[in-house]
Amino acid sequence: MTSSKELVSGYYNKLLKRNAGEPEFHQAVAEVLDSLKIVLEKDPHYADYGLIQRLCEPERQIIFRVPWISDNNNVHVNRGFRVQFNSALGPYKGGLRFHPSVNLGIIKFLGFEQIFKNSLTGLPIGGGKGGSDFDPKGRSDAEIMRFCQSFMTELYRHIGEYRDVPAGDIGVGGREIGYLFGQYRRLTVQHESGVLTGKGLTWGGSLVRTEATGYGAVYFTNEMMRTHGESLDGAKVIVSGSGNVAIYAMEKAQELGATVVGFSDSSGWVSTPNGVDIQLLKDIKDNRRERVSQYVKETTGATFNADGTIWSLEADVALPCATQNELNGEHAQMLVDNGVKYVAEGANMPSTPEAIEIFRKSGVHFAPGKAANAGGVATSALEMQQNASRDSWSFEYTDQRLHKIMSNIFQRCDQTAKEYDREGDYVIGANIAGFKKVADAMLAQGVI
Ligand code: NDP
Repeated sequence: MTSSKELVSGYYNKLLKRNAGEPEFHQAVAEVLDSLKIVLEKDPHYADYGLIQRLCEPERQIIFRVPWISDNNNVHVNRGFRVQFNSALGPYKGGLRFHPSVNLGIIKFLGFEQIFKNSLTGLPIGGGKGGSDFDPKGRSDAEIMRFCQSFMTELYRHIGEYRDVPAGDIGVGGREIGYLFGQYRRLTVQHESGVLTGKGLTWGGSLVRTEATGYGAVYFTNEMMRTHGESLDGAKVIVSGSGNVAIYAMEKAQELGATVVGFSDSSGWVSTPNGVDIQLLKDIKDNRRERVSQYVKETTGATFNADGTIWSLEADVALPCATQNELNGEHAQMLVDNGVKYVAEGANMPSTPEAIEIFRKSGVHFAPGKAANAGGVATSALEMQQNASRDSWSFEYTDQRLHKIMSNIFQRCDQTAKEYDREGDYVIGANIAGFKKVADAMLAQGVI
């Protein structure tokens, strides 16, 4: 009889051949399949009906041309993507990323992760992801608007409140969602508020959605620390990035008594031994759209570093909140040597497999992104609930719901790891708990 290890490596080898040149997708699948070996040993029926092969193949992949004209009248042609990965639990749900590094493999990795993350939230949402290789940096408002309108002119045919509900991600914030929604409304001649999340508060948006991913990652971290008899109160925290997720992770960590000792962007990192002035950073990044080096010019006690790495700082907790594979094995070893005991991923797959292995071996408590950063999509699902009921909830109520969802996700990961004799391994816990719910739904719904 084929062992579960052989079965899984057979699936993986076929996937490598069928999806050549997509290293990030391979990495995301490898991590989940590795966790599934122990599931298949205990419950071999999860290999029936081609379940795992179907799970690793997107239901639909849409690739399209996005032409637009810049302010100096040049024509630009970008590529747009929407990967509708799995809708067994509900409409496809997942963000749009605008960044020059975007390609099909990156969108597939993000869409694949999204299936398990959305399942972990306990809410009825399937997994999808999209975006474009468009670079918004340095573009005028009018250029961003024209790009968004062109992107939506194709995307609108494939999305809808009951079909696929995109949101933001890297390079797509409130401004972009506004332009995308405007064009959707114009093309469809209806105000279908449930078609996108992350909307403005006066036209169907939800309070707490902006803060949700960062706040949620911090709620998860605090819950994980409490299980080990500690908390964020008095802790030193490194947060990479300075975008949506990073800023609100910093805000909540400091509200809970931590000191954020550093943050970054792609131009370098800032050391802030006395903590971060969040209002100043928000103004620099959100309003003025400037680089992090500007922060040190307008405050005291902070230093900007164009070289080296933010992971060389001393801290108790690290929250990588920028992008995939930003924290490698060497960085992980630095963190361990400098006393970091907890790592929670605000970004999607920011730690390489080598880094995760070092955390595991060194006893660092590690929370994978699909669990720790699920607060964003969970609050998007709460936005969909408010849209469906033509209601809007208070900040306090929505934040309480988010907090409860993050505690539940932590408990689910913790319990599942225990059930499979891997106590404290939140990677195993998240992958298996996320998988089983989707897998049961797929088995119930037949071979489709
Ligand atoms: P933003 O665009 O708001 O911010 C991204 C931040 O990461 C910026 O500081 C950016 O710096 C930095 N960054 C991006 N790419 C790189 C790179 N290649 N090297 C170094 N730094 C980089 O995005 P978000 O905060 O929304 O997303 C951050 C991460 O969190 C992503 O992995 C995303 O998938 C994930 N995530 C986001 C959710 C959300 O609700 N927004 C939900 C769940 C996960 P610079 O400005 O210099 O590019």
